[in-house]
Amino acid sequence: MEKEVLIFGHKNPDTDSICSSLVHEGLNKKVGWNAKAVRLGNVNKETQFVLDYLKIEAPELIEKVEEGQEVILVDHNEFSQSVEGIEKAKIRMVTDHHKIANFETSEPLYFTAKPYGCTATILYEEFKEFNFEIDKKDAILMASAIISDTLLLKSPTTTRFDKKALEELGEIAGIDVNEYGLEMLKAGTDLDDFSAEQLINIDSKVFEKEGTKFEIAQVNTVSIEDILKREVELKAVIQKTIEEKGLSLFVFAITDILNSNSEIIALGEKTGVIKVAFGKDLENDKAFLEGVVSRKKQLLPDIDKNI
Ligand code: MG
Ligand code: MG
Ligand code: MG
Repeated sequence: MEKEVLIFGHKNPDTDSICSSLVHEGLNKKVGWNAKAVRLGNVNKETQFVLDYLKIEAPELIEKVEEGQEVILVDHNEFSQSVEGIEKAKIRMVTDHHKIANFETSEPLYFTAKPYGCTATILYEEFKEFNFEIDKKDAILMASAIISDTLLLKSPTTTRFDKKALEELGEIAGIDVNEYGLEMLKAGTDLDDFSAEQLINIDSKVFEKEGTKFEIAQVNTVSIEDILKREVELKAVIQKTIEEKGLSLFVFAITDILNSNSEIIALGEKTGVIKVAFGKDLENDKAFLEGVVSRKKQLLPDIDKNI
């Protein structure tokens, strides 16, 4: 039998990474590929809400892949965000909605990248293209991913394609998208039992540019103040992470999902980038960025350009 292809999203998986991997598994089976969804880290509380809602299990956790393992990457392409061993894996396919960076293969592959708000929106269009019917479970999985990545269509990453997909998926799923979505997003903001170290790792990504590495972590909340009660502790673990990983900058964005703003904590030798990128002086290593909710569109580009 043909070897199983592994499908996974990025490290510190979010709802899109998990849900799109699961949907992708189904799509692959429909076209006759033997593929299995796996994950590269813990399931966060928001994603757990979705899995519980559907009464399904999370994909199996993997830590690395062997040389020659065939893989499908969803919701990421940068090797710094992927599985250990990715350099020697055989990448058969990528389905993603991020910038392309530090990516190389030795063989041809299927590569679908669209500048949408969510990977699941690309998958939704693939169902349409292949004329496959979308069942209720896949509709919930894709709708949840879109709600998560676009913060219920409020993030500036949202495109008309995401809106259209979510509208139809909500209908198929038979859910009130706003009601379900808010409940799901709020489930992800229940952070009291997390250590400071866990908090900065819930949704964190490392980027590389010309040999310099920087990390942008993000956490969703309904009260920035609440998270900032642990400022001292958070700064200590950020500082430790900078030293351990050799980062030039660490930005921790605390995002208020109800009012669509973020407070950032920035540490590292390159914090000067914040002033250049956002026109804000750091006060006590912090800055309030009004209207900023998206790492991909509002934080990363200006940091990446100026670092
Ligand atoms: Mg993601
Ligand atoms: Mg995504
Ligand atoms: Mg995200």
